[in-house]
Amino acid sequence: MLDQEPLTASHEYTYNERDTLAEMEWRSQPKQHDHDELRPRKRQKTIHHSALPTPRREDYTIAWICALHIEMAAARAMLDECHEPLPIDTDDNNTYVLGRIKRQNIVIACLPTGQYGTNNAANVMTNMRRTFTNIRDGLMVGIGGGAPGKVDVRLGDIVVGTSVIQYDLGKILGDNQSQLHRTATPRFPRPSLLTAASTLRSKHELCASQVPRILRQRLEAHTQYSRPSSPDRLFHATYSHQSAIASCDECDQSKLMPRCQRAPTNNIMIHYGAIASGNQVMKHSTTRDTVTRELDVICFEMEAAGLMDILPCLPIRGICDYSDSHKSNEWQRYAAATAAAYAREFIEELPVIEAGSRTADSPARIEMAELQQTNQALKMEVRELNVRLRLQQSRLPPQVPYRNLVAINDALGETYSFSLNYIDSFELFVTVLRHKFEHVGLGIGRL
Ligand SMILES: [Zn+2]
Repeated sequence: MLDQEPLTASHEYTYNERDTLAEMEWRSQPKQHDHDELRPRKRQKTIHHSALPTPRREDYTIAWICALHIEMAAARAMLDECHEPLPIDTDDNNTYVLGRIKRQNIVIACLPTGQYGTNNAANVMTNMRRTFTNIRDGLMVGIGGGAPGKVDVRLGDIVVGTSVIQYDLGKILGDNQSQLHRTATPRFPRPSLLTAASTLRSKHELCASQVPRILRQRLEAHTQYSRPSSPDRLFHATYSHQSAIASCDECDQSKLMPRCQRAPTNNIMIHYGAIASGNQVMKHSTTRDTVTRELDVICFEMEAAGLMDILPCLPIRGICDYSDSHKSNEWQRYAAATAAAYAREFIEELPVIEAGSRTADSPARIEMAELQQTNQALKMEVRELNVRLRLQQSRLPPQVPYRNLVAINDALGETYSFSLNYIDSFELFVTVLRHKFEHVGLGIGRL
């Protein structure tokens, strides 16, 4: 049995009840109100058809994460169109750059200034995915340190991470960091990213990459992002940079690794392989070589491992140094530019997501909305049936015929549905019901 008072006409409404009642009056009167509420997107769709649609949060499907402001600048330069910022949640600390490349809507976010590493990258991606719920593919685009060895990687080259391994995760077995027993396992980008990478790679087997053209078109006016005039030097792993020396011009040039000259038309090469990701800057050549051998990696960076659990991203890295003590900033902007240019070419290759799953006005989305409405209607019916049962079991005067209740219930069906959705307390519901009885001229005394 329920504890609510018997239905009597003497009940006085509380403030909260009055509010609820007023809202109910508005909601329950014309029957179509409830149906309209379920179809706000259809009304939006009409507006969108009559004018160029302004992308909404759910229209953005590609995340482009940067760690440095120079990487974000290169990313901006790749956009065909910049979009107005959208409101974001108060607990989202990111600042977004929104835009479009061909038919893809892109969200660009940068790590907080001065804060790098896998954890910060994870925070940025977590916030982004909460705000932009339809993000499907993620790219981590920026600079990285080359791991020379198996691959003839040069400054300005592009490394595409077909797998990511957090190289600094493990157990230290001795006093020396080199005795780290690595426990991390390789992580892989989403299959959709890897298949797109294969497709683009196959294209490059037959035709040159578009990266040089994209760089010319997008960044030629920004000369700080052009190829530096300073030489590309790779020193022997055993020869360290002296801290007192300002530039590698003063380093012993006889310690340079002999490498063949590349043709100017082949300046930027794209390498596919494993990337070592960690929270520390790698600038020690012998440690670099150890990790490179152990993990078979071709690049070092500091963010990708943090993203893989949240959204398995494709890391795209422009090589700006050789992860050794000779590292300098001279090649960073150019390397950021080559990575961004590849990212643009890659996005052009990425299939546009089936419109039905992403846009409000697609047939599939409408069908989904209708299914949800049906589901909601079924739920309401079940709840109404429950109410009828509970009314039967309540303290209503036993002489009230059940058919009266059913008749009243039918007449007030919309009210039942609405009130049950918004009123948790059954007592309050009965109060509301009493009010409605009076409103339609069925005095409570008649029950
Ligand atoms: Zn040096």
